[in-house]
Amino acid sequence: MASFPEKISSLYIDGEWQEALSGKTQSVFNPATLEKITDVSFGEKKETQKAIQSASSAFSEWSSMTARERSQILYRAYQLMAEDADRLADMLTTEQGKPLKEAKGEIQSAASFLLWYAEEANRLYGEWIPSSKRGKRLLVIPQPVGVVAAITPWNFPSSMITRKVAPALAAGCTVVLKPAPETPLSAIEIVKIFEKAGLPKGVLNLVTGDAKAIGETLLSDKNVRLITFTGSTEVGKYLMRESAQHVKKLSLELGGHAPIVVFEDADLDLAADLALASKFRNSGQTCICANRLFVQESVHQDFSEKLLERVKSLKIGYGKDEGTDIGPLINKQALEKVESHLQDAVSKGAKVLYGGSKGECGLQGYFFKPTVLANVNNDMRVMYEETFGPVIPVQTFQTEDEAIERANDTDYGLASYIFTENLNRAYRVMEKLEYGIVGVNDVLPATAEAPFGGVKQSGIGKEGGHHGIHEFVEMKYVSIKIKE
Ligand code: ADP
Repeated sequence: MASFPEKISSLYIDGEWQEALSGKTQSVFNPATLEKITDVSFGEKKETQKAIQSASSAFSEWSSMTARERSQILYRAYQLMAEDADRLADMLTTEQGKPLKEAKGEIQSAASFLLWYAEEANRLYGEWIPSSKRGKRLLVIPQPVGVVAAITPWNFPSSMITRKVAPALAAGCTVVLKPAPETPLSAIEIVKIFEKAGLPKGVLNLVTGDAKAIGETLLSDKNVRLITFTGSTEVGKYLMRESAQHVKKLSLELGGHAPIVVFEDADLDLAADLALASKFRNSGQTCICANRLFVQESVHQDFSEKLLERVKSLKIGYGKDEGTDIGPLINKQALEKVESHLQDAVSKGAKVLYGGSKGECGLQGYFFKPTVLANVNNDMRVMYEETFGPVIPVQTFQTEDEAIERANDTDYGLASYIFTENLNRAYRVMEKLEYGIVGVNDVLPATAEAPFGGVKQSGIGKEGGHHGIHEFVEMKYVSIKIKE
């Protein structure tokens, strides 16, 4: 394991690494071993104010640079991240727990956002509108919104940062980044990459510390023009309410409650393989991972056997050990939530087909066995709340209409998945699903070139694709009267 200093000055403001003014720190733990990794700075209101000030001062120069100049810095950051991928993945596993193979995949994905937005920076086009009146010229020009606050989660501590910061910088915005307290090390590394890539002072600032105080300061400052957030629906709603005071723009990636629907005409082996990949990736701590599995009655028995066989083969353990499929949950609260969902389901009649208890692998961390539940009903929390853990409830259905109705029966609308070999059915069902993302025989839809985002209570806005940069831009309409 890479060794870490006892204490890291993790506030990056106006191009300087610094400690909290109070000298306070916060510890970072390895969720697999519960060992302390290091202490990082605990910033509060004053540090956040300084970071906003620094981002505001840097805005004029950064937004005036050519798209090509900004693109080159992003491209250099991409190269630096790609070159250092192994070390970054190792660090990610240390602070987050996911298996190293998944951490490597995340670093690749994080780098791909840098590359994509290095390219998109050059393609932020405006419009020329043919006027209905003589002597008028109508233009629409894209301009960066200004200072952006990016608040990111611990489940994808690297890619959730680059997915926000890269398009913001590409568009000409400056940024105050607040990462999750569980995973500040990945954030520090990304900021160091930008520093090395030649990003001017003040363009990207990092504040680790008191989420509530940092959040309040970002919300109450009118210079912060946009909040881009990935996290719980509860915090997302709070940010939305509080953004009203200055009518800030918002981009929100919130919770999900993804259904997987397996039709009788599906390739059942593929469906079982991918249901496994979707549910148990990152120990079920992914906002687009399957939360509910609906299987058509006629293939239920066959599919369940295939799924169980695969679930039983999953190996729990330390993320850096060869062959580990499932790492720990991020913290005690996460483990307690999974346990309480399970108890609730069992007390209401659910049957545990496999798993159902803490995972034993000789380590102290927050491990939970991959778990499959049958006999579930809609009164159970697993069926209407995001479990964010390795538990999958399986239900059956009879008809296509019933499957669609049940898949849509949730306040969330992030990702959904269907398995069928029938193109007509795939098309019909895909159109009726009330979700921002639909995977057809696919459970890994997230990629830099495509728009990711939810509907209903899963969020507002898109990340990725050419769409993602538009979140950070205002379209200014210019009407010009000319003497002809
Ligand atoms: P989770 O429960 O999965 O950790 P959260 O929504 O609590 O999800 O966290 C996502 C991010 O939001 C983290 O960076 C966290 O520190 C931050 N956060 C939590 N509460 C607040 C708040 N009141 N204001 C601003 N950020 C917050």
